Amino acid sequence: MNLARRSTETGTGHALVLGAGISGLCAARALSEVFDHVTLVERDTPAGDGATRRGVPQGAHVHSLTVRGANVLEGFFPGFVDELAADGATLVNALSEVEIVFFGSLLCKVPLGTVLQASRPFLEDRLRAKVCAAPNVTLLDGREATAPLTTPDRSRVTGARVVVPGVPGTTEEIDADLVVDAMGRAGRGATWLGTLGYGKPVEQRLRVDVAYASRRYRLPPGAIGADKALLVGATPTRPRGLVLTRQENDIWVLSLYGFGGGHHPPTDPDEFLLFAQELATVGGWEALRRAEPVTDVAAFAYPHSVRRHFHRLRRLPDGLISIGDAICSLNPIYGAGMTVAALQAAALRGCLVGGTRNLPRRFYRSAAKSLQLSWLFSTLADRSMPQVPGTRPALAALLATSFRATMRAAATDPEIAAAVWNAVSLTGSPAELAHPRVLAGTLRNWPRRRSVR
Ligand SMILES: Cc1cc2nc3c(=O)[nH]c(=O)nc-3n(C[C@H](O)[C@H](O)[C@H](O)COP(=O)(O)OP(=O)(O)OC[C@H]3O[C@@H](n4cnc5c(N)ncnc54)[C@H](O)[C@@H]3O)c2cc1C
Repeated sequence: MNLARRSTETGTGHALVLGAGISGLCAARALSEVFDHVTLVERDTPAGDGATRRGVPQGAHVHSLTVRGANVLEGFFPGFVDELAADGATLVNALSEVEIVFFGSLLCKVPLGTVLQASRPFLEDRLRAKVCAAPNVTLLDGREATAPLTTPDRSRVTGARVVVPGVPGTTEEIDADLVVDAMGRAGRGATWLGTLGYGKPVEQRLRVDVAYASRRYRLPPGAIGADKALLVGATPTRPRGLVLTRQENDIWVLSLYGFGGGHHPPTDPDEFLLFAQELATVGGWEALRRAEPVTDVAAFAYPHSVRRHFHRLRRLPDGLISIGDAICSLNPIYGAGMTVAALQAAALRGCLVGGTRNLPRRFYRSAAKSLQLSWLFSTLADRSMPQVPGTRPALAALLATSFRATMRAAATDPEIAAAVWNAVSLTGSPAELAHPRVLAGTLRNWPRRRSVR
């Protein structure tokens, strides 16, 4: 069967987006402004009722949207954040309603703006509804993309082959003027480029060996006082972390994580709570003891961060781009993945203003710029952990000492706390951490004797 949608004379034709996660949905939105028609192909069928989908198992774990990410989504859908809040999502004033303990220091509670907290299924369901409300967007779910279609000389990708998973004889061919690989970190688009003779993009990997375990709870209002989120970050000597956030409709999620085999959080409910007790503040632990679980404990293993350098490939076919985790998957503990996916979609939107000529090359350059700082920031933070292999111990110790001293300064100085928050929430540049005031605070808190504690 051939589901042909060829170029029309009036517009830019048909765009085919493979994968309807955050990057696929945002890309579909950007493309729907320019292409006559956009088709989204998604392997899963909707799980419904806020449940986690098979293709996005990370949806069971905390999914914080940074301030920058929320701003990008607002750019695509004005009023989106308020609509989600009206629908039950939690709006939080950072940092006055958030308790953040980084490198052992509790950050100063300075008011810096509003953050949206919701579960990944809640956010994605609403985003999907928005994208699919456009008259020129169609979602084909329950279909798996298996291969690209090309011109005989392979200079252009002209569509994709899709099947209904597990059902023989259901192969369909969908023609398109542009195919977007938004199929996540597995890297199918990169493999396709290799198969088509363009070579695979160079992959940069950082082995982090992080594992998550999470459970959702019902907690009474005011369970942790005026706070609506508690974050306790890992340190080199205790490479374990905890995030407890209020999501939609009084449901909270507790996510625990650890670097390295000996620190992976357990899934046995009692051991899970013991792991949390070790990390939580007194108030957080009191709340957890009284919490009513509404799900089982879910686990997720995240072996390595990966960045694929598509922008460095010497040759690229027309008509194919990869986006989102397919280009760059960051250690989730920094909560930046959805923001980076949305930023890449915004970069695509910017490139489309200049038309579709030479789009893959222009897009990859722009996407590389949009994710560069997040990659740098998260891999530098990872390199302060001795459990992450590949960094010279002296450099890891220096990074850890420096982060610890900055966080000590951020515990008492509101401007330094703001610089840390702006870097973490991607609202400002990590370069703010090099501001003279921050550097002076870091130096004031530098230990007399070298220490990585
Ligand atoms: C444990 C964990 C916690 C995280 N926490 C956060 C957080 O707090 N904040 C944050 O911003 N980010 C977080 N992330 C990262 C975030 O989940 C990803 O960065 C983001 O989902 C990337 O979106 P994507 O659309 O590129 O990929 P995905 O969300 O992985 O979506 C890919 C989609 O493609 C579909 N698909 C796959 N193969 C095919 C195929 N062959 N045919 C058709 N469809 C296909 C899948 O079903 C899926 O829907 C976390 C990640 C993990 C693992």
